[in-house]
Amino acid sequence: MQPDPAAAVVLFSGGQDSTTCLAWALRQYRRVEAVTIDYGQRHRVELECARAIAERCGVPHRILPCDSFTALGGNSLVSEEVVRDGVRQDTGLPNTFVPGRNLIFLCLVAAYAWQRSIANLVTGVCQTDFSGYPDCRQTTMDALQAALRAGMDWPFTIHTPLMFLTKADSVRLAVDLDALPLLALSHTCYNGSRPPCGTCPACLLRAKGFAEAGIADPLTASPIR
Ligand SMILES: [Zn+2]
Repeated sequence: MQPDPAAAVVLFSGGQDSTTCLAWALRQYRRVEAVTIDYGQRHRVELECARAIAERCGVPHRILPCDSFTALGGNSLVSEEVVRDGVRQDTGLPNTFVPGRNLIFLCLVAAYAWQRSIANLVTGVCQTDFSGYPDCRQTTMDALQAALRAGMDWPFTIHTPLMFLTKADSVRLAVDLDALPLLALSHTCYNGSRPPCGTCPACLLRAKGFAEAGIADPLTASPIR
C-alpha cells in the first residue's frame, strides 16, 4: 500500500489557525479531509464552527470523541472551577494548557489518515507568538512524527504551515489563501462568546494579529481594541 501523495488530513478545531491550515491544505492537496476532536471542551460552539467551515469548504469532516481530558480536569478549557487565562504557579504554563492534548489528537488524526492511505497531516501549531505550550513546538512535532512513522509503519509527514509565523503573518497568509470568509466563521474566544468577548487572551492575540496586519477581522467586522 502506498500513501496518496495528493491527500491530507487537517487537525481542525474550527479556530483561526486550523482554519487557515485547512485553506492552506486545500491549495496543496487535491483530497483534503478534516478531523475535529471532541475532548469535552466546555465551549461546544467550537464544534459547530468546525462543522460549518468544513461544510463551506466541501471537505469530509469527522468529529472523533476523546473525553478522557474531562476526567483528568485541571485546565480551564474543560473544568468550570479553574480560573481562566492565568498561569499555573506550579508549572509556569498557561492554565489553558491541556497536557498531552496535541500529542493524543495527532495520534488520532494519524490513525484516521492511516486507514485512508493518507500520510500528510496538517496542524496549526505555532511556537512564535505564544510559545507557552510545549506541545506546539517544532521539537515536539519532529519527535511525534518519528514516533508515528515507527508506530504505524507509515511515512507520515506533519505539516505545520504556521509554526514560525507571527499572528500577523498568519493573517496575511489567510488573505493570500482567500480564507477571510472562512475566518468569519471561525472561533477563537476562550470564553466561548460569539461575538467574541474581546478581552480574553485568545481574543486579544487574534485582534493583535489582525491589527498588526492592518486587516479587519471578518469575525468582528472591525478590529477589537
Ligand atoms: Zn474572548
